[in-house]
Amino acid sequence: MRDGLLPDECALVTPFPESYRPHLREAASEFGLPIRFTQGQSLASAPGMVALLDLLDVPTRNWPQSLTLATIRSPYFNLEPFGLTRQHADPLQLASLAGPVVEGLDQWQDTLNRLEQVDAPPPAEEEDLPAQPRLPIGPEARSLWESLHAFADRLTPPGPQPIHAWVRWLEDLLDDLRFFDQQETEIDQASIACLRDTLRSLVLGEQVFGEQPSSFEAFIADLHSNMEGAYLPDSIPWAQPAILVLRVLEARGIRLRAVALMGLSEGLFPEVEREDPFLREAVRTELDLEPRLGREQAGLFYQAITRADDFLLLTRPTLADDGERWEPSPYWTAATSLFAESPRLVRPDDPRPLADAASPAEVLFLAVRRGSLPRAYEEFSPRYADARRAHTVFAARLASEPAGPFEGDLAIAEALLAARYGSTHVWSPSRLETYASCPLEFLTANALQLEVREPPQPGMDVQQRGSLLHAILERAYGEAENPADPTSVLDMLHVVTVQAFADAPRAYAFRPSPLWEMEQAFLLERLEETVTALAEVEPGWTPVAFERSFGREGQPALELQVNGELVLLRGVIDRVDTNSAGQLRLIDYKTGASALAPRDLIEGRRLQLPLYALAAQRALGLGEAADGFYWAILKAEPGSLRLARFHQDEDGEQLTGVDGAVQVVQSHVARILQGIRAGQFPPIPPQGGCPTYCPAAGWCWRYAPSAW
Ligand code: SF4
Repeated sequence: MRDGLLPDECALVTPFPESYRPHLREAASEFGLPIRFTQGQSLASAPGMVALLDLLDVPTRNWPQSLTLATIRSPYFNLEPFGLTRQHADPLQLASLAGPVVEGLDQWQDTLNRLEQVDAPPPAEEEDLPAQPRLPIGPEARSLWESLHAFADRLTPPGPQPIHAWVRWLEDLLDDLRFFDQQETEIDQASIACLRDTLRSLVLGEQVFGEQPSSFEAFIADLHSNMEGAYLPDSIPWAQPAILVLRVLEARGIRLRAVALMGLSEGLFPEVEREDPFLREAVRTELDLEPRLGREQAGLFYQAITRADDFLLLTRPTLADDGERWEPSPYWTAATSLFAESPRLVRPDDPRPLADAASPAEVLFLAVRRGSLPRAYEEFSPRYADARRAHTVFAARLASEPAGPFEGDLAIAEALLAARYGSTHVWSPSRLETYASCPLEFLTANALQLEVREPPQPGMDVQQRGSLLHAILERAYGEAENPADPTSVLDMLHVVTVQAFADAPRAYAFRPSPLWEMEQAFLLERLEETVTALAEVEPGWTPVAFERSFGREGQPALELQVNGELVLLRGVIDRVDTNSAGQLRLIDYKTGASALAPRDLIEGRRLQLPLYALAAQRALGLGEAADGFYWAILKAEPGSLRLARFHQDEDGEQLTGVDGAVQVVQSHVARILQGIRAGQFPPIPPQGGCPTYCPAAGWCWRYAPSAW
């Protein structure tokens, strides 16, 4: 160490060692320095113990989907005696999504029993939808339920009993799950020893305070708090010299050559004093615990800075978690006022001489920053090349505009993409819109076919609600005596919603939330308003067709001429109206009301409507398309884009009406196909932020949260 300092001649002193623990451990490992915390990690935070507490939470939290699957996947438990392995977690997850299973053994049973009745997996709705992993059906579903049931039987706790009986129950359970055999790492072994001590102390506590029955929940709460208060021994033996990490109070009375006092920012040190609401000051004094009030922190500060014989380093955080400036503590201000020069703020990426580097990682970092590795450091050459490359990738990601090979450039797969998305590929307008909205989202969701798997929640999601509203409107208009008469449609609406709402949870696979009754009333009201308002948009139109497919279900695809190439399209037209002249008006229902304006067509975010107009006219031969608009169901109002009134001036050319809108779409389709086939998938956050359902949202470096 520098100036002949030995590790045990140095200490780091801070009021909050826990906040610094991971960073200090990382820095110590980078610089190869032994470091010892006076207080080890809490038992409850050890990985095996987190798994154990989660396991015990499974029955108390009523078998929630994600916790149940996490327990089956946990490397700390062997569930083979119940017929479950970690490989069973995937089919169970698929079943829970299909169910859906939010929580409860009854939901697991209901779902797996229904899947047991299924002979063959449902066919994919569209052939290029993401390939579904295998859903468990038939005997596989039954076997999964039997295994889960057996595991649930074992995990279900008995009624209230004394603590020593709970401890025995827990030890037996952990034996059955081979928990003690699955502890492989040093921290696992230490946790087990500490857990046994904790269980013993619970039993001893019962012997002292008297035996009385406890509920399972009370036992878990006791166990949890005891584990929180139990600390694992530090992995470095006390005989080995190491840099000590001390709390301020612990620094009293020792002498060291070098001390670093960390955390001299406002509110950290001196700490804002508040009485502990659970352990009042009087109780703390009786128990000989550190007081919370009147701690004479100035005296502690004085003691801390006078521990060092040769070197004293004072540091403080300058930025709060939210990026705001963090004011210094009065101790910092007082200490710095003693020096003629103000302290210099050292930022991690400030250029510094290589000779100052104290670890290989720092050598590489500084060399990459200066752009070269001097001969004297040749031994680092291979890692320097990697670090340079990482720096280039990072710099590209920080650039304001995405560009280059690290920003979604998949030109290397150009031939593959051109073949996959060649002239025989049948496109849906929504896929094209996804690319127009964000090319990397298209690559992730459509080309790579990744999907977000969120644990099911009670109630309908946006997609399920949209499908239900579409289906109700289709039936209300389709089965009304006179679909042109709103009264007749409203009558039918009241009939069809009763059945549609009753069937919805099974038809769209959701578990009704406690608000389901209210939601039905709300949706019915919005649908009534929609039917009434739609009839008032413009007289003279009669609904004649609903949910008309093209390019699927045996119907011809739309053939669109784009740059001399025929592009095939498919889709479903929500509604077609006709007037006395036989002209067509297309209506596309949307649940929400965003991006329904002419600008969204002009900028390529919404391409459906003109394509549907063309499909009704050409592919389905229903007549001449004269108009069309989007309809926001929940707002009961049309979007501002009207095909009949569409107008755009492009390079001096006036593009108007349905034909003009189609021309705009054609140019977007040409641009989109060219981008996809050339492998250009830059991440470009859509206007208004990235959708939460984007599968790349979890890792995309350009993710921009939605404003909503
Ligand atoms: S997170 Fe945003 S920027 Fe990234 S791929 Fe998804 S939509 Fe695009």
